[in-house]
Amino acid sequence: MGAGLRIERESGPSAKKRREGEICGGDRDEEEEDEGEDEQMVSVGSNCGIIALEALDCTVCNHPLRPPVLQCASGHVICMSCHRKLRNKDRCYVCSITGGYQRCIVLEKILESVQIPCSNTMYGCTVKTHYLEGADHDKSCPCAPCFCPDPGCHFNGSTAELLDHLTHTDNWPATEFEYGQRFNLQIQEGMHVLYTREDGTLLLVKFTPVPPFGNAVSIMCVDPHAVAGDRKFRCLDLLE
Ligand SMILES: [Zn+2]
Ligand SMILES: [Zn+2]
Ligand SMILES: [Zn+2]
Ligand SMILES: [Zn+2]
Repeated sequence: MGAGLRIERESGPSAKKRREGEICGGDRDEEEEDEGEDEQMVSVGSNCGIIALEALDCTVCNHPLRPPVLQCASGHVICMSCHRKLRNKDRCYVCSITGGYQRCIVLEKILESVQIPCSNTMYGCTVKTHYLEGADHDKSCPCAPCFCPDPGCHFNGSTAELLDHLTHTDNWPATEFEYGQRFNLQIQEGMHVLYTREDGTLLLVKFTPVPPFGNAVSIMCVDPHAVAGDRKFRCLDLLE
């Protein structure tokens, strides 16, 4: 028995703007809890030194700095938004030195040249992005890991690797589909994977017999970048 299916994408992954002060590459929270013991390091420019990310944080709000950056006469750097909130702009919030804050052009230049490796380096991504723009890559990194849904299996890899794993190691039947195009799916008890080359999406389909009515179908989307509610699909023409 087969089912005629048509899947439509209602919304794609939205390029949400990163929260100001949030660094792509995860691990910020852990790092903050560790009090910098396990510092995240980044390279500066294409061929020079290494710098601790912590050094690029505002000394008041501890969020990553973005130009324009201001510093006191002793060199405490703060972000523009913290500077705006200071009641006494003549006195450094950290060391109380007077004389106000000046632009710190050197640090602004460093911020513009710093590159950070993708947080999925351990999964094979070699991309480095500019510190100030990294989040865009992170949200669409093709190496972001997905995990095999089989509870006894510890496989993880990109969606392409997971597809390969499910079909070749776990022997799931697989069917390719295109958005908006009708295709036939063999109804077979158990798991089935649907994949599309259009955006690499994987849909895991589970058929469960519900006698005497037929089969119950559950469909789960695998997307390592998904934010809850971010992506929606419509499944049409299920019955034949
Ligand atoms: Zn700040
Ligand atoms: Zn100071
Ligand atoms: Zn990446
Ligand atoms: Zn598996």
